[in-house]
Amino acid sequence: MEKQKQQDLMEKIVSLCKRRGFVFPGSEIYGGFAGTYDYGHYGVLLRKNVIETWQQVMRDHDNIAFIESSIFTAPRVWEASGHTTGFSDPLVSCKKCRTNHRADHLLEAVGVKADEKMSEAQINKLFDENRDKLKCSVCEKKDFGSVRAKKLLATSTLGMFAEDDQEVYLRAETAQGIYINYKNILDAGPFSIPFGIAQVGKVFRNEISPRQFLFRKREFEQMEMQYFVHPRDAKDFYEKWKEERMTYYSKLGIKKEKLRWKRHDNLVFYAKDAWDIQYEFPFGWDELEGVHYRGDYDLNQHQKYSGVDMSAYDEETKTHFIPHVVETSVGVDRTILMLLANAYDEDEMGGEKRVVLRFAPNVAPIKAAVFPLLRNKPQLVEKAREIFRALKKMFGNIIFDDNGNIGKRYRRQDEIGTPFCITIDFDSLEKGDVTVRDRDSGKQERVKIEDLVKKINF
Ligand code: ATP
Repeated sequence: MEKQKQQDLMEKIVSLCKRRGFVFPGSEIYGGFAGTYDYGHYGVLLRKNVIETWQQVMRDHDNIAFIESSIFTAPRVWEASGHTTGFSDPLVSCKKCRTNHRADHLLEAVGVKADEKMSEAQINKLFDENRDKLKCSVCEKKDFGSVRAKKLLATSTLGMFAEDDQEVYLRAETAQGIYINYKNILDAGPFSIPFGIAQVGKVFRNEISPRQFLFRKREFEQMEMQYFVHPRDAKDFYEKWKEERMTYYSKLGIKKEKLRWKRHDNLVFYAKDAWDIQYEFPFGWDELEGVHYRGDYDLNQHQKYSGVDMSAYDEETKTHFIPHVVETSVGVDRTILMLLANAYDEDEMGGEKRVVLRFAPNVAPIKAAVFPLLRNKPQLVEKAREIFRALKKMFGNIIFDDNGNIGKRYRRQDEIGTPFCITIDFDSLEKGDVTVRDRDSGKQERVKIEDLVKKINF
């Protein structure tokens, strides 16, 4: 897709999200608050479906435990993990308009390989070598200061009185809550190596330039799974998880050609291997999920800092060992942006232009809408309400709409991606069947009321 079209698509998605109540800018009535967005009704339902699909995939394994760890953790956790010293992004400011940028992103945009894991000295050297090519995306001037490492950990305070407030970190990833509980889960049983721990939860990062809507936020949600294995089996499990994670996206209805693997050019010193799944977002290919083979670094660090033995026992060799970790980590919000971009379409139906979100039925926020053909005919309304209540009891996300003509009601449901619209007419009262209209093709078919559940159950 050419650049202008991509930008248009992003703008259309942002405006549809606000108009139809998927996502609103955070603190909007106070002028907004950078890097935050609030989810509205349909956004919440969409998130719920994403999280449930991910959890279901994890539940399909018998050896994956679930956990919900605290957002507030002892500050030592983040010292042990290396976040207090090493978790930063390269910040560079435009001297003219004072806009802050990620130096690695500016370099990447002009085709120079760079990433946030480079040392301050390394990235400054690269930046200086390319200064003549680099300009501010806001004021277009080529006048930057030097690159500094900006710490990403967000902080808060806890305490009774201001004078004894303790500075604490808000978690920057859910993974650390998993590492510090791995021994608890192992000891509590019934899980044993190899096994995984899965967690969904909010995380916070002081991102330098939150941008691209839901792609880079300061408060976002992660779905992470850490798989603990014997070192001799780690490579095999890593390959297995890579395959499984890519397959997962077909369950969300994502077009295959929009996904690809990208290996990390610059591995952190402890990582054994690291690949990202990238999606072709409207602004280009970028990371959606990380699938990383992290070795024993994390457990070793927590063993060192906490003094607690993190080893497991290998029955085969009768020896203790520190498990290696295969990690899969994806953001809920980035997934939502991907789903919206993947689903957004404009076409013509019945001679009228329409906007349609072609969500896979299992992720669509509303599964089906139920309409009485006419709102002023009590028998139709009563029958429609009866069907609506029965389906709602079964699925939850069913909507009733009797407002405006049928065409308008279809358009409204198309815009929020409802796969099926069910209309109750006079024939329904006599013959016990209803019209089911398919969102994508607009085709209508008569379906017996007793077959409705089967028809819409994806
Ligand atoms: P990036 O390179 O884009 O900053 P990252 O490598 O720092 O991402 P991870 O720390 O590996 O990301 O986090 C795992 C996942 O969490 C990412 O693949 C992404 O889906 C999500 N994620 C990370 N940062 C953000 C953010 N600021 N806003 C929304 N989602 C995010």
